[in-house]
This record gives sequence, C-alpha cells and structure tokens, in this order.
Amino acid sequence: MNNFEYIKQNIAEINKRITLACEKSARRAEEIKLLLVTKTVSPDKISYAIGCGYPLIGENKVQEVRDKYAALEKIPHETHFIGHLQTNKIKDLLRYNVSFIQSLDRIDLAQKLQSRLETDNRSMNVLVQVNTSLEESKFGIGPEKALGFVKEVSKLKNIKVKGLMTIGKLTDNEDEVRACFRLLKNLKNEIVAEGIEGVCMDELSMGMSGDLEIAVEEGATMIRVGSAIFGERQY
Ligand SMILES: *Cc1c(COP(=O)(O)O)cnc(C)c1O
Repeated sequence: MNNFEYIKQNIAEINKRITLACEKSARRAEEIKLLLVTKTVSPDKISYAIGCGYPLIGENKVQEVRDKYAALEKIPHETHFIGHLQTNKIKDLLRYNVSFIQSLDRIDLAQKLQSRLETDNRSMNVLVQVNTSLEESKFGIGPEKALGFVKEVSKLKNIKVKGLMTIGKLTDNEDEVRACFRLLKNLKNEIVAEGIEGVCMDELSMGMSGDLEIAVEEGATMIRVGSAIFGERQY
C-alpha cells in the first residue's frame, strides 16, 4: 500500500475552498474545473490523484510530459501543457497526446505550431496566455496586444482558440492579484464582443494554490493547483 491518502485529503480541502469562494460569488462549483499541476510529481502519485476522480493534469516542461507518458498512457486522463513552449519543442510535444496548450503567447510559436499541425493533419486546442501582472519575468502576451493576437491566431485554421490563461501577480496584496484576474475577464469580454470567427472564449484558466478563491470570485472556469495538493515541489 502506498501512503498517498494526503493527496485525497488535500483535494478535498481544495474543493472546500472552491465551494466557499462559489458561495461568496453566487457561482456553482460545477462551473470550475480543477487541473492538477503535476510538474515534478512522480507518475505513481499522479495516477493516485487521477484515481480520486481528477483526470485533468498540467505539465510545464516537454521533457516531463515525455518522461511520464508511458507510465500514464493506460490511465484515462487529459494533459494540458501550461509552461513556456520553445518552438523547437513543438514537434516533440505533439507526440504525447496533449489536448490543450494553455501557454500560446507569441505569433512565431503560433505559426510554427500551425505548420506542424498541418503536416500531422490534426488540430490543437489552445488558451492564449496573457501577462496580466506586467511582471517582466513572466511569459504571456501583453494585455494591450491580446485582442490583435487572437485575431491573428484565428486565421491559423488548425489552432482552436478556447479561451485565456494567466498567472496572477505573486504578492500578498489581494487587490493586485484580483486586478490581474479581472483584467483577464475583461479581455475575454472584449474578445467575445468582436465575434471573431472560429474563436471561442469558454475557458478562463486562472488561480493557483495561493489565490484560487480570488480567481473563482472573478470568473475562473479552470484553476491550476499543484503544491496545495502534492506538497512543496522539490527540484
Ligand atoms: C506551477 C504552476 C501552477 C501551480 O502552482 P501552485 O502554486 O503549486 O499551485 C499553476 N500554473 C502554472 C502555469 C504553473 O507553472
């Protein structure tokens, strides 16, 4: 017997937090998907967590997706790529049954992805990552460029835009974190109002271990939680 019971308990805690945030904001918990962030987490723990009824996982490195692929292949689940994607890793990533790339943030990346998808005769769901905190260290397209970027990407027929993703500012100042999530929601509304052909804005992926309540209150449809479920990451 493994001793992964704590993972189940931690997921239950997250669900309580989601429920409370939903009560505060008159939302229903079913509107929010929990994506397990499994970077640095071993496949045995990941399988356990999936087995608790949470089949949505997120990885941020192509190499980790590759390394864990065989161990998880037979367990029904869905993998989202949530990290910075280098263009020279696109081809490799597409080998591993990833259903979403949540971190599309540059036109050269989009064009190279499109060209690879054409070659493979397939499509890919993406979220456009927006740098809502304007922190230079962070990836993501600038908020003022997001609409134009989505328009450009909408012309790339094998890429299916499904929404937006952001990482909130890493600060204890709740107002500053909230401003990031609110900005993402406003961008979504702006993009929806444009009625761009082929573009869907159903998903707002925002909120992590430390700020998920704020994200839920501001309209997140998917939260991405790692350390509050699996423990602090050891690199
Ligand atoms: C690591 C990571 C998360 C999860 O962060 P935690 O604080 O561990 O919950 C969410 N989103 C992205 C893009 C990440 O890289």
